[in-house]
Amino acid sequence: MPSLHFDNSFLRELPGDPSDAPGPREVPGACYSRVMPTPVVAPRLLAHSAEMAAALGFDAGDLSGDAFAQVFGGNALLPGMQPWAANYGGHQFGVWAGQLGDGRAISLGEAITASGERRELQLKGAGPTPYSRGADGRAVLRSSIREFLCSEAMHHLGIPTTRALCLVGTGEAVVRDLLYDGHPRAEPGAIVCRVAPSFIRFGNFELPAARGDTALLRQLVDFTIRRDFPQLAGQGETLYGDWFGDICARTARMVAGWMRVGFVHGVMNTDNMSILGLTLDYGPYGWVDDYDPDWTPNTTDAQRRRYRYGQQPNVAWWNLSRLAAALAPLFGDIAPLQAGLDRYAAVYAESDRVDIAAKLGLATCRDEDVGLMQSLQALLQEAEVDMTLWFRGLADFDPARPALEPLYEAFYDASKRHAHETAFADWLARYAARLADDPLPVAARQARMRCANPRYVLRNYLAQQAIERAEQGDCAGIHELLDVLRHPYDEQPDREAYARKRPDWARHKPGCSMLSCSS
Ligand code: AMP
Ligand code: MG
Repeated sequence: MPSLHFDNSFLRELPGDPSDAPGPREVPGACYSRVMPTPVVAPRLLAHSAEMAAALGFDAGDLSGDAFAQVFGGNALLPGMQPWAANYGGHQFGVWAGQLGDGRAISLGEAITASGERRELQLKGAGPTPYSRGADGRAVLRSSIREFLCSEAMHHLGIPTTRALCLVGTGEAVVRDLLYDGHPRAEPGAIVCRVAPSFIRFGNFELPAARGDTALLRQLVDFTIRRDFPQLAGQGETLYGDWFGDICARTARMVAGWMRVGFVHGVMNTDNMSILGLTLDYGPYGWVDDYDPDWTPNTTDAQRRRYRYGQQPNVAWWNLSRLAAALAPLFGDIAPLQAGLDRYAAVYAESDRVDIAAKLGLATCRDEDVGLMQSLQALLQEAEVDMTLWFRGLADFDPARPALEPLYEAFYDASKRHAHETAFADWLARYAARLADDPLPVAARQARMRCANPRYVLRNYLAQQAIERAEQGDCAGIHELLDVLRHPYDEQPDREAYARKRPDWARHKPGCSMLSCSS
């Protein structure tokens, strides 16, 4: 194993929980509790990210050895690791939930890579912590596969995200009631090792603020800016204002990325919002198949649909406003916080325009192009059209011979297609006219579109197929899928099966179109 250098600044520079009593408890005045992972019976490496392993200095020999599985299964520590669980609160589904904290995540340490980058290693599912609130601190294989695959897929799509180093099977069973319908069953357990420069969430700031502990709030803010935002200069309220503005801009770019590729996070509670604007906490997320702004994969949210696809930009703004409220005690005048929220709106609008131009293959987005995109989206929704296939296929559209036929594959329902054929013909004519008035040559337009409209995304049914194979002991589906998703914008002729639209059987199947938080 490489001798990783750890610099555990979160522990060193912030106050910790003085108690090491077992069991759930309130932890005032502290940013974390020291806690050891609970050992598991038979840790076994099931999958890993080659890029993350290389970045951290693990070679093939390390990965195949038993020591690796022992460490990332929570049975052993590398020199310099000092495990802890972070303390934070959050607004869940719009309601302040008080202290939450890492109930099943345990950070092992902050590794400094050979290129000098800080990478916190965090096990998810490594056993209870003081923040487990009566739950078991464990994770099932299915949800761990989903987190492992999606965080890597997101990275390769170019959207900011936490990463995953590896997926380790624990050899232990975990009991879950998948649909919350009174039918608990034992499932295989697993642990994902997540990697990020920082796992600090909006909720880390909200908790001391809610407790009126302004000194701790300030200490955490100063620490976060120093460690995670070293590019920001200045001091005092000006620095705080610039910092909040930067968080707003990063969050806007992240959500714009989600909207571009059809990703629905599913649980955008403020405890799941990264201060670095990274996609964080892959739970009941999903990918839009047929374009539908009202769709959410999360059954827990099926009634109100607070976190539905089309609502995500608004929810991110609301979450930032919760963060602003938490930070307000540090400001004499809250104008910089308002300016940050305005910056969110401006950066989001600008990112959206850039994405409209890229998705439609235009040199720049003119005001009328926003309307062109909106009328397309309305059609895609009404006619039940696959988002990914449509936009990918649109790059081959020939404005000299506008025809819907080459895009038939993207439709789920032939009768709905018939019903909207004329409307699509009208839209394609508008689009052809717009292209005729655009300076981009054909090849450049197509290249631009193929960099914005992925061929391969982690469709819900694909993840489910890999899960079902893995639950039978065959992890090859995970490895194949990871490999395909490493190059989401490239044509991979021998991997065409992974680009297909959702099959009928997957339309209403648990795991494919509906997911619960139970994981
Ligand atoms: P989530 O909605 O998955 O982000 O989780 C919300 C809170 O519940 C966080 O504090 C988690 O750490 C905690 N949590 C979720 N699942 C478990 C579990 N199996 N054991 C302990 N804590 C959990
Ligand atoms: Mg969470």
